[in-house]
Amino acid sequence: MKAVLFEQFGQPPRLRNVADPTPSPAGVVIKVEATGLCRSDWHGWMGHDADIVLPHVPGHELAGTISALGSQVTRWRIGDRVTVPFVGGCGHCFECNSGNHQVCEHQFQPGFTAWGSFAEYVAVDFADTNLVRLPETLDFATAAGLGCRFVTSFRAVVDQGRVKPGEWVAVHGCGGVGLSAIMIASAAGANVIAIDLADDKLDFARKVGAVAAINASTTSDVVDAVREITRGGAHLSLDALGHPVTCFNSIANLRRRGRHVQVGLMLGDHHHPKIPMDKVIAHELEILGSHGMQAFRYQAMMEMIEAGKLKPQMLVGKHLSLDEAPAALMAMDRFEGLGISVVTRF
Ligand SMILES: [Zn+2]
Ligand SMILES: [Zn+2]
Repeated sequence: MKAVLFEQFGQPPRLRNVADPTPSPAGVVIKVEATGLCRSDWHGWMGHDADIVLPHVPGHELAGTISALGSQVTRWRIGDRVTVPFVGGCGHCFECNSGNHQVCEHQFQPGFTAWGSFAEYVAVDFADTNLVRLPETLDFATAAGLGCRFVTSFRAVVDQGRVKPGEWVAVHGCGGVGLSAIMIASAAGANVIAIDLADDKLDFARKVGAVAAINASTTSDVVDAVREITRGGAHLSLDALGHPVTCFNSIANLRRRGRHVQVGLMLGDHHHPKIPMDKVIAHELEILGSHGMQAFRYQAMMEMIEAGKLKPQMLVGKHLSLDEAPAALMAMDRFEGLGISVVTRF
């Protein structure tokens, strides 16, 4: 099969012919119909992820049809249209047994702990626990964008953030994660403030539900601006970018007893950012992480998508071919275009 492969961190990935994958006993092979490009792929390529063993095929935001089954798989058939969360739980450890597959002790992550979906085929382990059936109405390109950014935002806003109607929600960063979070929080009845450096992203944020926007490049104090709009601070705030500045602001702009959810990854030089811990104590703030979402929680999100309350198709940006993926991957850190770029031609 064709696959995008890199042999050294930071060296250009290339389109290569490699052996087709075979399923593990509990796994399947999926014929990839769409795979999203994500900043996490860029981090992996740069060597920021300790799980990656070289040579490596990136790609973790995938949708496709099952082309081969492992001997122990009982819930799935060849030809089923499926997607997977980017963190797959083993189904057997303490965390999985408590319903928290997203922090499984033996987690399977395509494109990190194994070869990923920048390829014609990808092997996915623990299929019965982690595969999610796609509704017929959901196209592959939209479905590919769900597995990482959209579901991570759903869990961050709904499950970890516990958003309530009428609350103020601040979303720092309007890339794929941020726009997803804005759409989801708005659908849940919150008033959402979008914060970014680019006016085109802020305009798009309003289209997906933000009621206010702050351009951080032209605002002297983002925290004051959020406090003023919300008359005292946000109830819930997300760092959807993953940067020391957005992380600090997201905590500092909370009202008393507010909740901060860290969604953007903190890797490389940014892994231990400074945070206003004095305020966390004095105002009883909550600081939460969010890491993917369990497959069984997709149903609530799918119901909202099928009902038209959530429209992830709005977030799909450019369609690419697999041979365009290496250049797009290397550019991921410099510029994330409007919406999610998806490889749909293999
Ligand atoms: Zn991703
Ligand atoms: Zn587990």
